[in-house]
Amino acid sequence: MKIAIDAGHGPETPGKRTPDDSMREFHFNSVVARYVRDELKQYDGVETLFTHADDGSRDVPLQERTDKANAWRADAFVSIHANAFGNDWNDANGIETFVYTSRPPAAVKLAEAVQRALVLATGRKNRGVKAENFHVLRETNMTAILAECGFMTNREEAELLKSDTYRRACARAIVTGLAEVYGLKRAIAAGTLPQKVTIEINGVRLSAQGYLQNGVSLLPVRAVAEAVGVVPAWNPAAKQVSVNGLALNGTIESGTAYAPARELASALGLQVEWDGPTKTVKLSKSCICR
Ligand SMILES: [Zn+2]
Repeated sequence: MKIAIDAGHGPETPGKRTPDDSMREFHFNSVVARYVRDELKQYDGVETLFTHADDGSRDVPLQERTDKANAWRADAFVSIHANAFGNDWNDANGIETFVYTSRPPAAVKLAEAVQRALVLATGRKNRGVKAENFHVLRETNMTAILAECGFMTNREEAELLKSDTYRRACARAIVTGLAEVYGLKRAIAAGTLPQKVTIEINGVRLSAQGYLQNGVSLLPVRAVAEAVGVVPAWNPAAKQVSVNGLALNGTIESGTAYAPARELASALGLQVEWDGPTKTVKLSKSCICR
């Protein structure tokens, strides 16, 4: 899934600022665009592209923006803006999201989801989904929406638009809408490197460790087998390890064969217990015959 993110305007674009020039629209748009990109990175199979100049070096012309998204074959195009009504402070306020005048159903669906999420996240007035003949909506070949996240010409909303909290909330809402419509799934969180598992045999802790993979404990075959006096066999042709003549569904990690705890325990005639809180696999002789 390819998502083009478009922060409207450049920092020097005339008129695109609060009446007191305390905030340029580009600064809101581009920061939210970055947060949207960063949020989207947490989802599986999503690629992103900026159609604007992130460093604000220039106001990328609209044709160049849509050409870039079309050439990249984006699946969706999201243009991020802050609204204005006239050039002076006034009461106009709230959030609205635009689609092209032909109201393409896919765009309406995305706009409705993003608009709903933005209103929910910010608590601002819902001005609804509207249709407009904007260049970025007309000249893009993919589903395209343009979100106006509040009015720079409204004193209260101008303060919000300047705040990092509000910018992050808007970005999260845009991503929520995208995720909802396109069924995006969060990738497994970083930090889920294989979890180490402690191994105990008859109450004695082994120096070798296993690890957890998708909820299954994988144990080093040789270390465990030898601890109970069994020598594992290695079949190099089949790249398979066996104990007591039983082949195991193992995996090789840096030269060591690992097998699922239950399978290995059963081949060795051991009972296996899992102690969740200490992440310990407890192996013991299965029969009480002495
Ligand atoms: Zn704008």
